[in-house]
Amino acid sequence: MIISMRPHSTKEEIEHVCDRIRDFGYKVHTIVGEERVVIGAVGLGDVTACLESLQAIPTVESAVRISAPYKFVSKEFKKERSRIRLNGVEIGGGEFVVMAGPCSVESEKQIMETAEAVAAAGAKILRGGAFKPRTSPYDFQGLELEGLKLLAKAREATGLAIITEVMSDRDAGMVAEYADVMQVGARNMQNFALLKTLGKCGRAVLLKRGMSSTLNELLMSAEYITAHGNPNIVLCERGIRTFETATRNTCDIASIPVLNELTHLPVVLDPSHATGKRSLVPALSRAAVAIGADGLLVEVHPAPEKALSDGAQSLDFNQFRKMMVDLRPYLALRNPTHA
Ligand code: PEP
Ligand code: MN
Repeated sequence: MIISMRPHSTKEEIEHVCDRIRDFGYKVHTIVGEERVVIGAVGLGDVTACLESLQAIPTVESAVRISAPYKFVSKEFKKERSRIRLNGVEIGGGEFVVMAGPCSVESEKQIMETAEAVAAAGAKILRGGAFKPRTSPYDFQGLELEGLKLLAKAREATGLAIITEVMSDRDAGMVAEYADVMQVGARNMQNFALLKTLGKCGRAVLLKRGMSSTLNELLMSAEYITAHGNPNIVLCERGIRTFETATRNTCDIASIPVLNELTHLPVVLDPSHATGKRSLVPALSRAAVAIGADGLLVEVHPAPEKALSDGAQSLDFNQFRKMMVDLRPYLALRNPTHA
């Protein structure tokens, strides 16, 4: 059940409703919004009696039954699409937002040049990993704090917002000092300690789909972040593991309209990790526009052949510029304001 309190209900009124829910044997999760408090009630069994009792309380605006195991991120909870606002950019509004930059922050020169180039080509958010989840412990692990500082410098120089990965709940405070968007990588989609911490981090979160995760599991992970206080979440399809070996991962392009049916959260595509091949990135980006994604997360590097991670799937500046220009007619078809 989802219970919306009337705007500006008092603490006592909210507590009274919570007590009533507990009397029926359900657990409560409250989300405090700017205007109103929303209470999620979770538990087993028929909720009819509880619903009827709550609907009779004058301070309750609405009490509805939710069938999906996730509540706050469901369409049933919120009909209108969520818009995530950061530094003058809005993800989930009308605009198709491109986040671009290197897989890893490698040096000041590399990140500053990339920031200038992607901003000039129309990207609104700069990506770059300072903490890198690498399969091998011998591979480049990221510049960590130094990388975060370089990203902040690039933001200052270009005005781009910053997205960067947070790998552990221990680092969340430090990453939040520098990032506008906290990226949760595919390998951490079910790191529940991290998800809980991100509920309180005060920053928007981009949650990547785990490479072996279902969309239900992705939405349950988003529910963790929301249930712990943070509704500002962007979902990201980045390809899943299948028997196919022609691409690094298999892009589940249908996940985008599926998610758009199930949740009000914005959904973006990462065509770089979804394919592992730079030649395939523009085609998948066009598909993302056509199929209703809210944006892209793309890897771009000044010299992909020298990249310390993911060079094979990174576009160089010219390729990125061309891709952005080539997307224009597709964006215009989707939404005339992009023409
Ligand atoms: C990345 O964005 O560089 C990354 C490590 O992505 P993923 O978590 O999707 O593998
Ligand atoms: Mn990468």
